[in-house]
Amino acid sequence: MRTDADTTRKPIAPGILAEIESGRLESLEAHEILIWGVKNFHPRLSLATSFGGQEGMVLLDMLHRIEPESRVFLLDTGRLPQATYDLVDRVRDRYGKNIEVLFPRAESVQEMVRERGLNLFYASLEDRQRCCQVRKVEPLNRALSELDAWVSALRRDQGVTREKIRKVEIDTAHGGIVKLNPLADWSFAQVEQYVSAHGVPVNRLHREGYPTVGCAPCSRAIRPGEDPRAGRWWWENPETRECGIHPGQEEGGSGI
Ligand code: SF4
Repeated sequence: MRTDADTTRKPIAPGILAEIESGRLESLEAHEILIWGVKNFHPRLSLATSFGGQEGMVLLDMLHRIEPESRVFLLDTGRLPQATYDLVDRVRDRYGKNIEVLFPRAESVQEMVRERGLNLFYASLEDRQRCCQVRKVEPLNRALSELDAWVSALRRDQGVTREKIRKVEIDTAHGGIVKLNPLADWSFAQVEQYVSAHGVPVNRLHREGYPTVGCAPCSRAIRPGEDPRAGRWWWENPETRECGIHPGQEEGGSGI
């Protein structure tokens, strides 16, 4: 089992740390944040996306224009819908890009399913969080341990827990890795505008009413006017709907 001590991450260079702490980067546009990230960290910088939110696809497109060899990874939980796998193929074709796909540890999944069944997430909060831990959080930690910086698709207006995110921050929840949130100050309308203007491929389930697309058994379409957070883990109380990818910054599914 990998531990924090297994990380190959280099300490953040003093000049970069000073730049982050100065707050200067907060005035940069999304593409400028990515240019800064590529300049300082590529190829040990990677975009995390579930291929289940339009924000992640915007960042993939933007990052690819800046650096065609830029890295992207997907956590394949083993429970993703076919539409998500189809989108991965479309992205490969469109950008000629290798998508790094990470899987949960087979022995952990087997043990969990043996003890609690295949659909354990509906049984209790504890079971649902265990499933997210095994299928998402552990593989994410493994991916991040080999990077110096990662890019996430969080936006501030996605909820109160995200209001204070910075465009570049030190991610203490993941061992102090540098985390880029280039879309922090974007509205959803801006995201849609970018997708439309650049013909960015997105998950077809958005057209069927899914605000974000996560694992198939834990995502559903919402009705017009319904809270987007109702599309994920709808059987739980709103305050528990986190998968642990962005501790304290999630509301109704991260989409990474
Ligand atoms: S979202 Fe659902 S299926 Fe996916 S890892 Fe979490 S509990 Fe398991």
